[in-house]
Amino acid sequence: MKLADQNESKMHSQKVILSTIMRHYPISRAKLSELTNLNKATVSLQTNTLIEKHLVSEIGVGVSNGGRKPILLVFNKNAGYSIGVELAANYILTILIDLEGNMLFSDYFEFINESMEALQSFLIDRIRLVTNHAPESPYGIIGIGVGVHGFVNENQMVVYTPHSNWDKVNIKSLLEDHFNFPVFMDNEANAGAFGEKLYGAIKNSDNSIYISVGTGIGLAIMVNNQLYRGSDGVSGEMGHMTIEFNGKKCGCGNQGCWELYASERAFFTNLSRIKNGRELTLEKANKMIQENDGDILMEIEKFGYYFGVGLTNLINTFNPDSIVLRSNLIEANPIILKSIKKAVSNRISMYIPLKNEIFISQLNKNAASLGAASFMIKKFLEDSKILND
Ligand SMILES: [Zn+2]
Repeated sequence: MKLADQNESKMHSQKVILSTIMRHYPISRAKLSELTNLNKATVSLQTNTLIEKHLVSEIGVGVSNGGRKPILLVFNKNAGYSIGVELAANYILTILIDLEGNMLFSDYFEFINESMEALQSFLIDRIRLVTNHAPESPYGIIGIGVGVHGFVNENQMVVYTPHSNWDKVNIKSLLEDHFNFPVFMDNEANAGAFGEKLYGAIKNSDNSIYISVGTGIGLAIMVNNQLYRGSDGVSGEMGHMTIEFNGKKCGCGNQGCWELYASERAFFTNLSRIKNGRELTLEKANKMIQENDGDILMEIEKFGYYFGVGLTNLINTFNPDSIVLRSNLIEANPIILKSIKKAVSNRISMYIPLKNEIFISQLNKNAASLGAASFMIKKFLEDSKILND
């Protein structure tokens, strides 16, 4: 075998062994050999390399079937830590996780009407604060993943943010200049979908749609367990599909866009108008729903109707096995999900059944930041320099 091929094969074995340990640990070398179909000598050699690289550790003893008790291998989830950031229109959420996705620290920072200069320094300050909470580890901070509301292209450039001016800033360079870590940028919905796929509501789905509902509607499509990104990386902007062809004018240039009717912002704007311009927070809305306020119940019917119209279009287009909704408003109020499901079932073709369900997010407000941080972990573990030097 040529040297290059030998290296290739060694690296492949290491990847298979590491991913099997991550899924099944604590695990013995014998069991590892059985599960990976690699011979015992290869397993032994490559696990030793992984131990030297601090990615795997040995612990105590396993249950023996007579004979010598096997030493068990565990994934060293504390070999390094990853930072995840969600950059929303009105907040920055920054988290620190270990290599298995467990959260060690999080920071939520809300703002209104700040200049771009101020926002850039807030972003750097918040990340610095969170990095300071990382324990000592062999690899330290392995990177920063950022999920941004808006269009992020295949070169990780933010090309359009509908509710702020982050498209004027090269966030990747900004962060790479300030921190000595790799940075990965993606759309917040893609990051959220990746998070829910790894740890949450769509873990067992192959073809799913993730929808984040906030100031606008963000969407990510997973096809055969992979994010569908489109040819420029900006797929999934279904918030701007027309659901009222003569409807309201949208900032995107279109008319009657879905997010003008079925985003949280649209919901609160309409409700506030009915309530004579009263400012309405999520907490106030939750309370009104609990008290069966007639106005808010009417608005929920309308919201569910518009949401369901758009969702039916998506189901007809993609035939997903499940859909996950990320929204503070919907997550807090099951009655809204009920209203959406009613609208969908009134419209959906009997020939296109949803195999599973329309779920709400299991990761809630951490979905995008967890997904963004996990993009970095995936990159770190797949990085040939880590597994093969
Ligand atoms: Zn639009």
